Amino acid sequence: MTSAGATSERAAPDLAASEAHLRLAFDSAPIAMSLIGLSPDTVGSYLRANTAFARMLGYHPDEIPSLDADELSLPGDAERDLVRFESIVNGTATSVEFEKRYRHKDGHIVLAWLTSSVALGPTGAPLCLISHAVEIMDRRREQSELQRLAVTDALTGLANATLLRDRLDQALARLHRDQSYGALMHLDVDRFTAINSSRGSHLGDALLVEMAGRIEAVSRADSTVARLGGDEFVVLIEGLASPDDVHGVATRLLDALRRPYLIPGTGEALVATVSMGVAVITRADRSPVDLHHEADLAMHRAKDAGRDQYALFDDALRARVIARTGAELLLRRALAEDLLLPHFQPILDVAAGRLVSVEALARIHDPLRGVITPDQFLEVAEESGLIAEVDGRMIDRAIAQLARWRRDGVALRRVSVTVSTRSLTDPGFVERVEKAARWYDVGGAELRIELSEHSVLSTSPTVHASISRLAGLGFHVGLDNFATGYSALAHLQRYPLAFLKVDRSFIARLGNSRRDDAVVAALIDLAHAHEALAVAQGVETVDQLETLRAMGCDRAQGDLLGPALPPGELAAIVAADPRW
Ligand code: C2E
Repeated sequence: MTSAGATSERAAPDLAASEAHLRLAFDSAPIAMSLIGLSPDTVGSYLRANTAFARMLGYHPDEIPSLDADELSLPGDAERDLVRFESIVNGTATSVEFEKRYRHKDGHIVLAWLTSSVALGPTGAPLCLISHAVEIMDRRREQSELQRLAVTDALTGLANATLLRDRLDQALARLHRDQSYGALMHLDVDRFTAINSSRGSHLGDALLVEMAGRIEAVSRADSTVARLGGDEFVVLIEGLASPDDVHGVATRLLDALRRPYLIPGTGEALVATVSMGVAVITRADRSPVDLHHEADLAMHRAKDAGRDQYALFDDALRARVIARTGAELLLRRALAEDLLLPHFQPILDVAAGRLVSVEALARIHDPLRGVITPDQFLEVAEESGLIAEVDGRMIDRAIAQLARWRRDGVALRRVSVTVSTRSLTDPGFVERVEKAARWYDVGGAELRIELSEHSVLSTSPTVHASISRLAGLGFHVGLDNFATGYSALAHLQRYPLAFLKVDRSFIARLGNSRRDDAVVAALIDLAHAHEALAVAQGVETVDQLETLRAMGCDRAQGDLLGPALPPGELAAIVAADPRW
């Protein structure tokens, strides 16, 4: 008895203490919590709420128990919520979650994520709903900030490419409705890389921010100003009454951007300009990709014309694009169908009067258009990056042909091929040449590689490594079109050059004046001073050949000695010509 009595005396205060703890935990929990009655006499009324819940809705916790769920909800919501609670009240689910719209005491809406479950009474009947609510308005704000960041450029705060794409789509749709005009303007900062590397990237960034501000300041509010990264800005203009209005806008932009810049916080001054390409949007059926491409091409035209100016994408540029597209298709088809084959032009040993080698020159053999020369496809090959494949293919074919001539006893033992700088930047290029030469057992002086002055001057380590490797493999490397570029004499010593090919333009002027002759003589001497053979290109007359012979020129090629021919025709000539 005594002990049982003692136990019950201790249990009563323990129970009271643990209830007090639970109440305290409920009241002071940092998460908003509430109890809503479910028994017949309390259904739909708040029984209790904690401080966090009351604070969330602008009440004192003691005010809540006198309220109905209706009073803290938006009209009609409490009724809809009851339907949501059905599953936990009838026991088919243990909890429900949903977005709840509360009404704050001052009337504004509080959005919260509500999680509720049911507490059962001693008989097992539902007693009340226990809910906790997490305010989500802040999350929404965060989300909209994230959304804003996703469409703006971090450095300048301008629209980014994603937003621009969206605005351009909308603009095209609007244009369709209101029959107005628009324009897409591509702006590229002139010599930005030089500014960045000479003055530091922090100053480069500050300049971009200043420029962004100026572009925005002179643009209308309904224009979209975007930065596509780097030093590229785009302005999308809408609602122009006439296509001619773009001139005024472009001039205003350029005027604003060429004023000197004082970089805030640094006291540094900078002068910078931009080049701008403009694609006028006259029809709504234009594709956004085409418009960007057109504005970009026009921008490059502005750069080529001297920078700090704008150029329109016009009919002349459109014609170039069409021609370029046609040329690229032609070249891709030629590569796919193996229609790119070399023709070979003879090269004469001037002193011996013997034909000693040939130059391989690329030709496309189009089934419909016949033989197509490089002026129709080389530029597009360079621009599209197909040039390494063109050069690689030509070297394969030239080497294979040389091996075939050797097998057939044709007196053709040496071949020259032209290689573009871009091919030399392709890391696999030299390996391809090496493999082909090994496969056909062609080596050393049998293969001559004609480089441009641009390649020899290049500071690219890959180009340097490629040329050194080709020379190291024993192939004769030399300079094509010598003296047409910007060769500094010092660069001639960079590689062991086996020949210097004097450009056709100098040979064509031979005999015109003593000065013209002296220039050719000096170029031949220069080749000899570097222990390289002097080769004359484009020899068309006997007089030219005789002058070259008198000057000590080593090799000559040109229409006088024979044009570039298909291998079969050349082999027939070789067989019949005693000079071979
Ligand atoms: P190039 O290497 O200076 O080749 C000489 C060009 O002058 C050839 O034009 C040739 O047909 C032409 N020619 C030869 N003799 C005479 C002449 O007496 N008078 C005149 N007016 N022209 C003459 P082609 O074949 O149209 O080649 C033009 C250029 O294309 C070549 O100039 C070369 O730079 C480039 N090229 C040709 N094949 C290839 C190639 O496979 N790869 C690369 N990267 N470039 C190539």
